Amino acid sequence: MATATGTRFDGDLTQQPPIPDEAIAAAVAVMQSGRLHRYGAPESQTAALEGEFAAWQDARYCLALASGGQAMQIAMRAAGVAPGDRVLTNAFTLAPVPGAIVAVGAVPVLVEITPDLVLDLDDLAGKARASDARWLLLSHMRGHLCDMDRLSEWADRNGVTIIEDCAHTMGARWNGRRSGNFGVTGCFSTQSYKHLNSGEGGLLTTDDPALMARAIILSGSYMLYARHGTPPPDELFEKIRLDTPNNSARMDELRAAILRPQLRGLETNIADWNARHDRLAAALASDPRLVLPRRAGAESYVGSSIQFRAPGIAPEAFLAAATERGVDLKWFGRSAPMGFTSSHRSWRFVPMQELPRTDEVLADLYDMRVPLTLSLSDCDLIAALIREALP
Ligand SMILES: *Cc1c(COP(=O)(O)O)cnc(C)c1O
Repeated sequence: MATATGTRFDGDLTQQPPIPDEAIAAAVAVMQSGRLHRYGAPESQTAALEGEFAAWQDARYCLALASGGQAMQIAMRAAGVAPGDRVLTNAFTLAPVPGAIVAVGAVPVLVEITPDLVLDLDDLAGKARASDARWLLLSHMRGHLCDMDRLSEWADRNGVTIIEDCAHTMGARWNGRRSGNFGVTGCFSTQSYKHLNSGEGGLLTTDDPALMARAIILSGSYMLYARHGTPPPDELFEKIRLDTPNNSARMDELRAAILRPQLRGLETNIADWNARHDRLAAALASDPRLVLPRRAGAESYVGSSIQFRAPGIAPEAFLAAATERGVDLKWFGRSAPMGFTSSHRSWRFVPMQELPRTDEVLADLYDMRVPLTLSLSDCDLIAALIREALP
């Protein structure tokens, strides 16, 4: 349909770049070998990926898994979360995060977010006191990092163990330190819409050898744990190998083969995401009707998505006008879940909790992926169309 200026965005915000040729060749070689199981491959792609990702992340150990959700579940189990424990987490995140907490038999305690989309550290302190929770599954939702210095100091002082969900912050840093290295473990996803794409997949990192030994056995290493890419000392496995349940959540050779070449290109991709994100952000921030979340000076982010608020703007009309211009925005204030997006009010598997400040932020919060298939002029066009769609 023609708009006032007659322009519309004809691209697709869900379109990822193709898998690099080098990765396709590596995947074909795995298939020709017939050895797709990581513990059946003499020179395991999965073990090599673990070593390479640990080095890239500046972590001692890495474990490759079937999904980011499995990484969070195994991280919690390996860190010692027990059934019935309360686990603090962001009220603004995606369903696999509270889902992972429930899957390990624990109970999510939802914490408010600030208008800058990060965990509200004052509410965190209050909820921790009221619930006696000893765990925080911190979700760096949409790539926004809270004050990691203040949080780490508070967690140390209060005996709260942090597990980081870095599904949106692979490559982000706080004061130079990579997200994922603040908690006892970092959990990453290689699902198609994250920073590496193997369709599905997960990575767990830690500096703690005993935690990693438990995680490796939990992931389903059988007695082949020594073939892991970054193995902790053998004696740590000896102590636990027969007492630790096998959760069968391994990564396979095919996915590892296509991830290794992508990891080599990740820093370049991060720069490309940020160029696109910053182009969009500058144009949107120049509109007085829109409010973008503020970023701390200590934060280096990965702009693989962008969020903005449009206070006082009627959402349905705005979204319809944007869609008409080819720009499908996600709105977190929607009362019913849609696509990948849902709010805490539709997580019926979590005890109902009142989160008035989060609800107020989500009511006018819009979200858009920034795929690398966008050109910079696409970004200019999209920003202009979003502004034009505002009533
Ligand atoms: C995608 C995602 C996950 C889970 O990753 P999967 O690999 O899809 O299981 C966890 N947290 C957030 C915030 C995510 O977006």
